[in-house]
Amino acid sequence: MSQFPVIPFWIDNRRAEAHSTRVGRVFNPSTGEQIRSVALADATDIDRAVESARRALPGWRATPPLRRARILTRFRELLEANQKVIATLISEEHGKVFLDAMGSVQRGTEVVEFASGAPHLLKGSFSESVGRDVDAYSILQPVGVCAGITPFNFPAMVPLWMMPVALACGNTFILKPSEKDPSPSIVMAELLKDAGLPDGVFNVVHGDKEAVDAILAHPGIDAISFVGSTPIAKHIYTTAASQGKRVQALGGAKNHAVVMPDADLTFTADAIMGAAYGSAGERCMAISAVVAVGDAGDALIEALTSRIRALRVAPSLEQGADMGPVVTAEHRARIISYIDAGVAAGAALVVDGRSLVIPGHEKGFFLGPTLFDRVTPGMSIYTDEIFGPVLVVLRAATLVEAIAIVNSNPYGNGTAIFTRSGAAARIFEHEVEVGMVGINVPIPVPMAFYSFGGWKASLFGDLHVHGMEGVKFYTRTKAVTRRWTEDPIAGGFHMPVLGR
Ligand code: NAD
Repeated sequence: MSQFPVIPFWIDNRRAEAHSTRVGRVFNPSTGEQIRSVALADATDIDRAVESARRALPGWRATPPLRRARILTRFRELLEANQKVIATLISEEHGKVFLDAMGSVQRGTEVVEFASGAPHLLKGSFSESVGRDVDAYSILQPVGVCAGITPFNFPAMVPLWMMPVALACGNTFILKPSEKDPSPSIVMAELLKDAGLPDGVFNVVHGDKEAVDAILAHPGIDAISFVGSTPIAKHIYTTAASQGKRVQALGGAKNHAVVMPDADLTFTADAIMGAAYGSAGERCMAISAVVAVGDAGDALIEALTSRIRALRVAPSLEQGADMGPVVTAEHRARIISYIDAGVAAGAALVVDGRSLVIPGHEKGFFLGPTLFDRVTPGMSIYTDEIFGPVLVVLRAATLVEAIAIVNSNPYGNGTAIFTRSGAAARIFEHEVEVGMVGINVPIPVPMAFYSFGGWKASLFGDLHVHGMEGVKFYTRTKAVTRRWTEDPIAGGFHMPVLGR
């Protein structure tokens, strides 16, 4: 028996104990201490969740979209009322500062708001008289039982990218959140129940590779949405697709900001600080590489350095903290090994965060903001996603050269340009091979009614999450051609040609 409270599963609209006896450890990264345990599902646990979701499917599928939407509207109200509760749990288990956690819950809530338009989103199309007395139309129907496998860095927002849209479309859903910060998922499940969601429509199982492998292999799961690192995304995509499942698998990132010499330096430096070091760099849309064009580099490095010195690293729930710790001790060690490698490769280490210690929190997983200059594309601090508070600056002579650097990178999640020139911005927007582009906007996370997703190694699959691409992912199109007529029409042996 664990000496810590064990975070349960959620099956059939109630807390459920695991069949598996394996448990994971959940830490508070600010203290470095374990605060909870989490049950880690085995194949039997996944079976239980799938059975529940399958049982619930016919009833939920038959529930009119308007009634589904009303439940989602109530869920949105409950999310808003409980935003602080969820954000506190996020700060506690993830380590991001409270206001940042609040913002992430808000962005997730906006997807629920979008999904509450279900009757409108699920309108099909209709063509009258495609032949004599013949009409044609398309209808959107649910895919079935859908699963979501989500990363540690947004334990509420990323599940909320998926689940409200899936439910709005008439699917039932099984969430497998990150085992590093699983508590917010159970709070959301409770709120869905309070909002009136029927039993079995939304289930939560916790776990690691064993649980994910059971989800990938399960014949009762029709579609999988994944968000996480690129190697796992690729594995999820190839394995699930080979089983005939519909898959979208969003991967990692190396997001560039291109800074033109005409950019407003104060605005740009402030924007890059938040984008690089907010959430300790543990955002898939974090800016982790700057390409300074022309003579933009030196002044930018100076402006960033003075801002880094003023940045307040502190426990995540402390008032006034700009940046908290990273998620685990292992992740901290991995980030430090990248900083070591950057130094060894000859990059200029302008600010070194490796030795930061927060008095009273010596065991916390803290790491100071780190800045490298004169980085070249072959260095591992540039090629790899570090996912920590490490910003690297490269230099380019021209915009064309800067765009070539961005496009040579295997990732294509987000990017931003800072400039006062509309022409430069337009060229950048047109040429850059990245899914989400900001123009003087450092973290261009699309609103809920647009779709979120990258290109290249940042997304395996065809469709992005939420927005109309999310609706497409969670529905199957059925095209109906119907004839209602009182005229007797003889059948024929030739290919029917309705339009004659
Ligand atoms: P991760 O890939 O380690 O884990 C993601 C999920 O996969 C978790 O639920 C985890 O339990 C599971 N998992 C881990 N290892 C597995 C394995 N070997 N087999 C099967 N399942 C496994 O990612 P993470 O560390 O939790 O999150 C950070 C990563 O997520 C970063 O790479 C970040 O860029 C990415 N991310 C991407 C987006 C996006 O929209 N593209 C958004 C958020 C995070």
